Amino acid sequence: MPELPEVETVRRGLASKLDNFYIDKVEVLSQRTVAGLYDPQFFKAKLIGSVFGEWTRRGKYLICNLKSKTNNLCSGWLVVHLRMTGQFKFLKQELPICPYTRIRFWNKEKEELRYIDLRNFGQMWWVNPENHPTEKIKGLKTLGPEPFSKKFNSSYLKDSLKNRKRSIKSSLLDQSTVAGAGNIYADESLFQAGIIPTKESRKLNNDEIVRLCIALSDVLKKSIGKGGTTFKDFRDLEGINGNYGGQAWVYGRGNKACKKCGSIIIKSKICGRGTHWCPKCQN
Ligand SMILES: [Zn+2]
Repeated sequence: MPELPEVETVRRGLASKLDNFYIDKVEVLSQRTVAGLYDPQFFKAKLIGSVFGEWTRRGKYLICNLKSKTNNLCSGWLVVHLRMTGQFKFLKQELPICPYTRIRFWNKEKEELRYIDLRNFGQMWWVNPENHPTEKIKGLKTLGPEPFSKKFNSSYLKDSLKNRKRSIKSSLLDQSTVAGAGNIYADESLFQAGIIPTKESRKLNNDEIVRLCIALSDVLKKSIGKGGTTFKDFRDLEGINGNYGGQAWVYGRGNKACKKCGSIIIKSKICGRGTHWCPKCQN
């Protein structure tokens, strides 16, 4: 599943490719991709005639400020969540569609932004210009702070974990603790911080909390620099796979030797997700 670094890589691609992209035509091939109460006709009508403005990211959500071509004022918001397998392609010329093509946007020059989604869990919302999407979309309303923001620091994390009995791995996967981390980066951060993923959240001491804050931001930043992880479904707008996977210390390395101490990496399920850790480096 795309996590923060992958979504950030996609955001950068969209921002650079879609500068002043005027939406002249939209085709909705999958009704379920359009979220909310809007039918595809309404969604199309709201997008046509706008220009893709600034792209931002909040957690794993992509948010585009749409602008009216005539007066440059905000004409609404397009919000996208890629979920498991959503991806965008930017095409300068017509190419045949694959069966997983869900939504297509064209400009007058016939360039196309194509949204493809194998599993088809991804969603797009149109939000009216009077509201910011963070006020309208439930998943956005409940998101915790961004891992690189000032709000996310050791005193925040300490406070948010203090009464939680569940494992630290489970707390990290909870998007209301910190936005954007998922399975891969939770495992990698816990390794870097030397914390066993099964540890009760409330039992983390001050040092561990400080180390975890640093590790999370470190691991995510490094991965963004590499263009996201090499997990099989992720592609950026050019169809290129990132290469963080090659750098992983524990994720996807069950039964292999720890790169630091040589112990065998354990793979087990925690809250239903495959979790990897080193029994010697993490306790
Ligand atoms: Zn180790």
